[in-house]
Amino acid sequence: MGLILVSNDDGIHSEGLHALVDALQHVGEVVVVAPDREQSAVSHSLTMHRPLRIRKLAKNRYAVDGTPTDCILLGVYRVLQGRWPDLVFSGINKGGNLGDDISYSGTVSAAMEGARLGIPSVAVSLVSRSQFRFKTAAHFARGLAERLLKRPPEGPVLLNVNVPNLPLEDVRGVRLTRQGKRVYNGSVVEKVDPRGEKYYWIGGEEPGFRNVKDSDIQAVLEGWISVTPLRLDLTDEEAMGRWKEWGMQEGLEG
Ligand code: MN
Repeated sequence: MGLILVSNDDGIHSEGLHALVDALQHVGEVVVVAPDREQSAVSHSLTMHRPLRIRKLAKNRYAVDGTPTDCILLGVYRVLQGRWPDLVFSGINKGGNLGDDISYSGTVSAAMEGARLGIPSVAVSLVSRSQFRFKTAAHFARGLAERLLKRPPEGPVLLNVNVPNLPLEDVRGVRLTRQGKRVYNGSVVEKVDPRGEKYYWIGGEEPGFRNVKDSDIQAVLEGWISVTPLRLDLTDEEAMGRWKEWGMQEGLEG
């Protein structure tokens, strides 16, 4: 039996989190440390300018008045009190985290924080905007957790899983994918408030995507579960040579 730390960005009362916990409970001891309210799209932010509180809601269930990243840190260093988790799972998010969504996602960031600490970490998202059916995603998460515990792979584990909103029998299988390319069309809306002042609203419309071969977006559209291995090192290896040639390192020479 492994020890699994679970968090999310939809908040501790989200059905997606409940479905994930129910599934992972068959695999190991599950400890939930999750935001006390929705924190979607907060990315990898840390709360550093006010105190944080942990509220125990039940056995192994803790709400934090902070971000998903705060939850992982408080979970690992305070709630678990010296016990090191075998896995971190984040989700199940209500909505996909595909392509460029990854850089905004609180769900993925919780897994990134786990991976940064050296803990095998998985983010799970359900690709839909309504009528969420968590069963397939929960089933896959359970199987994946079992396999990761039984046969831990070599090297760091940071997986971004996106599951189509389909019954299990309609899912075509599992695909290893790469991060796709989102197109957010005109995603800032300008309106006028009752006092005549302008205000702005970010996002809202369903974003499009550009065709990228073997992408996460493409796989989910075609009915596959998408698994993208991510890394924390954002260095653009390919660009190194280009910048060298461009003369970056001669920048201080007369
Ligand atoms: Mn969310």
